[in-house]
Amino acid sequence: MSQLVYSNKINKIRTFALSLVFIGIGIMYIGLLARKIPWLMFTLFILGVLFVILSTVVYFWIGMLSTKTISIICPNCEKPTKMLGRVDACMHCDQPLTMDKELEGKEFDEKYNSRKYKREEQSHK
Ligand SMILES: [Zn+2]
Repeated sequence: MSQLVYSNKINKIRTFALSLVFIGIGIMYIGLLARKIPWLMFTLFILGVLFVILSTVVYFWIGMLSTKTISIICPNCEKPTKMLGRVDACMHCDQPLTMDKELEGKEFDEKYNSRKYKREEQSHK
């Protein structure tokens, strides 16, 4: 049985930003190993720095997104969680959550967050 598990968006982006830092450090470490070839070391260092900068940008983006999140108490695990968009999953137990009464009981789908879907929904009314 394969069931899709949805995870919280903020958590997902945070994991992504953290992995970028590690990739950046990893690339710089390889650059250090390649110090006998100056141009390679230089290229890898620049690449590593770019990854670290990118992760900073992503962290900044999380900060921006956090202002748009809605804090709620998860009905499943009763812990406070932050949700982003119309549908999101709980940060602790991955329980699908929705802000929209119309979507209650429907199968959780990322498409409910897209602008295209909203537009289509509007045109059907
Ligand atoms: Zn929960």
